[in-house]
Amino acid sequence: MLKDKDYNIILDSLSEGILILDKKKKVILSNSSAEKLISWTSPLKGSSLSSLFHSTELTKAADEVLKEDSVRKLKLVCYRGNTGDKAVISGKGREKQYKLKLQRLEDKQLLVTISDVTKLERLGTVRQNFVSNVSHELKTPLTAIIGFSETLSEGNLTREEMENFARIIEKNSLRMQRIIQDLLLLTSLDRTEVDSQMEKVKGDRILSEVQAYTSFKANEKGITVEYSASDFSVKCNESLIVQAVINLVLNAISYSPENSTVTVKAGKKGKNALFSVSDHGCGIAEEDIPRIFERFYRVDKARSRESGGTGLGLSIVRHIAIIHEGTITVESELRKGSTFTLSLPLN
Ligand code: ADP
Repeated sequence: MLKDKDYNIILDSLSEGILILDKKKKVILSNSSAEKLISWTSPLKGSSLSSLFHSTELTKAADEVLKEDSVRKLKLVCYRGNTGDKAVISGKGREKQYKLKLQRLEDKQLLVTISDVTKLERLGTVRQNFVSNVSHELKTPLTAIIGFSETLSEGNLTREEMENFARIIEKNSLRMQRIIQDLLLLTSLDRTEVDSQMEKVKGDRILSEVQAYTSFKANEKGITVEYSASDFSVKCNESLIVQAVINLVLNAISYSPENSTVTVKAGKKGKNALFSVSDHGCGIAEEDIPRIFERFYRVDKARSRESGGTGLGLSIVRHIAIIHEGTITVESELRKGSTFTLSLPLN
């Protein structure tokens, strides 16, 4: 037979918060998860349900369950403060979302099970936004591809028109390919994999790889890219750091006027390796700076598309910095130019 103490151990081992209320809706028993979940500072025992959650919806549901012996489930958004009909809980902190289940026990007692679904809900929103952004980004080039291939297959076109439409189809297919490649890279960036591929790499070697990859685009725009590296090595995943600096250099080229100069430097400062890319381009307004590292955020959508941007370049750089325990910062002035600095711990 189980002893009373065992029931308490069982209750405290549950990750869900448990409250048992009497018919006046006052707590007669609770487990430690309930105390943690609702950040209660004073003992829960003796508190009324309405003082724990200021929600008329919940009080109503509790009354119904006690009267009708039914089961009710509801979701509450809780935060500190007292607004409208939202549930208010004690304790400091950000908004929380709870799922509550109400059930009647023998002798008109009420069992309330509480699960914290804040993280789950947030993750759901992030996933939803991501999927809708990706769909939107792919839909635009796909619509062009479908439209122009339909026109091509209908015939009755001059050779010049056919070539022009084929070029548009090719451009949009390449755009889709770039988006998919960037998305795959972004989702494959994983800390554990990076750890196993870390090696000491010389700063000038990273810059020469970047130069080899970006010189064609710089030449196309008549932009001079000046590279300089001091003598140092950094422990990193070489191909990812090369990719991050490539993204910064390609952006510097894209957002700069023709025949201007871009400067790329690699050096050591204290315990960090710094890779900086400076341009004399359009610059970024102060209010946009915190957002440019978000997926698909662009200050000027048309300009980004025109230059072949996917809106993912900087979020890739930020992820690469994070998995190296480094940072990416930017200083910029509108119409003057920008400097992006990638900082990585040397070891
Ligand atoms: P994109 O593919 O659009 O370049 P990124 O993630 O690389 O996407 O950059 C996000 C946005 O940040 C760009 O659309 C652009 O508005 C801005 N941006 C990035 N680099 C620069 C730069 N060097 N100068 C001015 N704006 C920049």
